Amino acid sequence: MKKYLKNAMQPVATPQNQPIPGKQMVKNNAGGYTFEISIWEQLKRFIVLGAEGGTYYVTERALTVANANNVLTCIHTDGLRTVREIVAISEDGRAPRNDPAIFALALAASHGDPATRKAAFDALPQVCRIGTHLFTFIEFVQTMRGWGRGLRRAVGAWYTEKTPRDMVYQVVKYRQRNGWTHTDTLRKAHPMPSDETVKAIFQWITRRDEAVWAQAAAIPADAALAYIHAFERVQQAQNVETVLSLIRQYKLPREALPTDWLREPAIWEALLTDMPMTAMIRNLGVMSKVGLLTPMSDAEKTVVARLTDANRLQKARIHPIAILSALRVYGLGFGLKGQSYHPLMANSQPKEWTPTPKVLDALDTAFELAFKAIEPTNKRTMLALDVSGSMMSGTIAGVPGLTPREASAAMALVTARTERDYMFTAFYDKMVPLNISAKMRLDDVSNAITNLPFGATDCALPMLYAMKHNLSLDTFVIYTDNESWFGKIHPSQALAQYREKTGIPAKLIVVGMTATNFSIADPHDGGMMDVIGFDSAAPGVMADFSAGRI
Ligand code: CA
Repeated sequence: MKKYLKNAMQPVATPQNQPIPGKQMVKNNAGGYTFEISIWEQLKRFIVLGAEGGTYYVTERALTVANANNVLTCIHTDGLRTVREIVAISEDGRAPRNDPAIFALALAASHGDPATRKAAFDALPQVCRIGTHLFTFIEFVQTMRGWGRGLRRAVGAWYTEKTPRDMVYQVVKYRQRNGWTHTDTLRKAHPMPSDETVKAIFQWITRRDEAVWAQAAAIPADAALAYIHAFERVQQAQNVETVLSLIRQYKLPREALPTDWLREPAIWEALLTDMPMTAMIRNLGVMSKVGLLTPMSDAEKTVVARLTDANRLQKARIHPIAILSALRVYGLGFGLKGQSYHPLMANSQPKEWTPTPKVLDALDTAFELAFKAIEPTNKRTMLALDVSGSMMSGTIAGVPGLTPREASAAMALVTARTERDYMFTAFYDKMVPLNISAKMRLDDVSNAITNLPFGATDCALPMLYAMKHNLSLDTFVIYTDNESWFGKIHPSQALAQYREKTGIPAKLIVVGMTATNFSIADPHDGGMMDVIGFDSAAPGVMADFSAGRI
């Protein structure tokens, strides 16, 4: 009788198109039943993954609306917590793109209660760290609220709380975005300058009298004003020597130079000396094209040393996706110039540069180093990739052609490289042979994944497969969009069966690759955890969970 009751309450197997009796479940977009994640978990998924490109089932617009509504629910439930969550992910550089965090912050600054709005404005410099972010914030917030005192003060403080030298750097390097310039923002915010130097800088930004600056005979003594002077002189420079000396003396960035100079290898060589990491990673192709970054060159040594320097990568908040994107584009040998990527393009386009193998290898290393520190677990681990049709739709972080399917393979590779005892599998509605290993380079893994067949989705298969083949495993990691619907048994039930059959208290980690509100992981089972795909902190958290350190 007892057993009968137990079975009725928690059946051993329920088809995925029905909820497990007694469990709170919601229908996913494919028609299968999955567990609903909390509003806070969905907020984090959105901030890390964004809604760009939508999913196989949901358009970008619908996914954005669903997530905006969830952010609003968070704001109304606990506005201050919402701001803290946004700041934590953004400041730590855990998301491939900052736009979702900026969007959520703009919502908090517009729809929160007074305390929330204040917290959102106070967090502006932490989330909007560069001029481009500020313009993006203003673009969002403009459509949500008016230019009231709170917004004017926050935007003004974004400038006045920086040192004059830092402020000027931002103005020179990030000059405009979506039609917004610093002239516009300062005219709107109208902050009071704290001293004569700041006053002179504001005048330069809002009235920009180039002639006065360029023709000033003496270099201003103040570092910030001298920097403006250098910027205006480089606009007028007639020969390469002048440009080179201004770059060297003032560490002017590429954005400060008239574009004509950017065809000269000597200019790029001078820029490379102090080039920020993000700029270096984005300009590998250009530096090769102008003939600076070539095999055995000094530039190659510099680039390789910097790319394989974990501290430098972490300090510059380089996200693994930025590296993955660079690896694809640099490896292609030509710029994409706005066209969308297709694997067949690789052979059909004329080459603009020849990538150096050392830089490609360094990018491969950098990808791994860009994740937060990972301690090996020494647990027996299965890395199971959902390669179903839906995983081939949508783009990760707006990187041309980077599908959830390919991105998840790259992420699994990071875990494989830190573990001794692991196996790769792939599945859709059946298991698929997958021939990849930790020693392979990222681009080869991507190619192997791209060529696999695909079909419907059954996320219970990894556990069923392990049972059938008597595999002893401590941890299953499933990389998926959680749109599982095809199986005769739910993944959580398959895990329960596996535990019972083997006596191993096996864990399940679900790596969610899309910003939806559901998961195959049972939130009430302490042995299951949900993490967010391409959160740069995810592999570290996964290892800690697998090893029982959290
Ligand atoms: Ca699917």
